[in-house]
Amino acid sequence: MSGQTARSGGTSGPTWPELGPVHRATLRAVLVGGPSSRAEIARDLGLSRASLTRVTRELVDWGLLVEGHMERRGTTGRPGEMLHARQDAWRFLGVKLTGDRLYAVVTDLGARVLVEVDEPLRSREVEDVIAQISVVRTRLEDGRSPVVGVGVALGGDVRTVPGGGAMIDSPFHGWRDVPLARRLEEELDLPVQIENDVRCLTAAEHLFGVGVGLDSLVLLTIGVGLGVGAIVAGQLVTGAQGAAGRLDHLPLSGDGPVCDYCGRVCPSASLTSGAMVQSLDRPGTDYDGLLTLARAGDADALRVVRGAARALGALVATLAATLDPQKVVITGDGIAVTALAREELDASIAAHAHPAAAPVPLEIAPFAFDEWARAAAVLAIRARIED
Ligand SMILES: [Zn+2]
Repeated sequence: MSGQTARSGGTSGPTWPELGPVHRATLRAVLVGGPSSRAEIARDLGLSRASLTRVTRELVDWGLLVEGHMERRGTTGRPGEMLHARQDAWRFLGVKLTGDRLYAVVTDLGARVLVEVDEPLRSREVEDVIAQISVVRTRLEDGRSPVVGVGVALGGDVRTVPGGGAMIDSPFHGWRDVPLARRLEEELDLPVQIENDVRCLTAAEHLFGVGVGLDSLVLLTIGVGLGVGAIVAGQLVTGAQGAAGRLDHLPLSGDGPVCDYCGRVCPSASLTSGAMVQSLDRPGTDYDGLLTLARAGDADALRVVRGAARALGALVATLAATLDPQKVVITGDGIAVTALAREELDASIAAHAHPAAAPVPLEIAPFAFDEWARAAAVLAIRARIED
């Protein structure tokens, strides 16, 4: 799919060229690492100056890199021409589907959001969703810079079937074995990437966010749902069935609410926002209300929040012991739990950790809902610059 050229579709603009592995690596180095000299890129990628000169000339000709200001670099004392990525020349569409809404953004090559839209899904029928994405693409695309890649993120399993591409199972849409990427590619005449939303966010954070440059990373999202994404040896972990990281119903020891779904004490039953509201059991109080009560010192609300933090700690320690990542990131709409009950979180991590384990390199990352759609756009960017 990579290297497929974009149609003009009634708009005029640049066409994404065929990129070989060295082109991709060079573009990625400048895009992620910022403006660089040829000498720096050649050194970082282990390339000869001659081959790098040829590759960068082509990338400049194709409108992906541009020669920038002169800057004195390194120990030679000679001024070197800096190469910059032409981020603003390229457009990517990212779509996040929930059970009832569609969130879409158009970003540039550097994943900066340029325009966004949020609207109800007209229906959950596959063909209706495809038609709606097509309309949104046309609406958000500006005439001078057509979209050259599309990413879609959704809750559910995304399996790669030999010869069949990505198959989607989405319980929120009632989809089973839906070849959504292939159908969207036919409709949009563009390369389309689809991934589970949490894995999509993990890949985006690895390329442009808190995980840049790391070989291993675990990302936990907490909020309405509970998700786990992982990077191991620089690669996104998907699993044989597209179901890696499903720890939301991991049985937990100790007291806690019993899950309506799995019938056990599990992280979902104490950590998802809906379960927390249910545990508080105070009519008229929603998740935000629960947090407000906890901040004001309400004993019942604090009990619920602390229980959530303990479940989170068990998950963090389990993931740290399983993968020994360079960083564990907690993000999502529910991260208030980590601030309100940090002591319980840290104590639970310690209680569930291997006795000889080093401290978990934990990071709490702020989250806005449009991160999901932006991460979907990054999925499309990633497909263009990674092998
Ligand atoms: Zn459960």
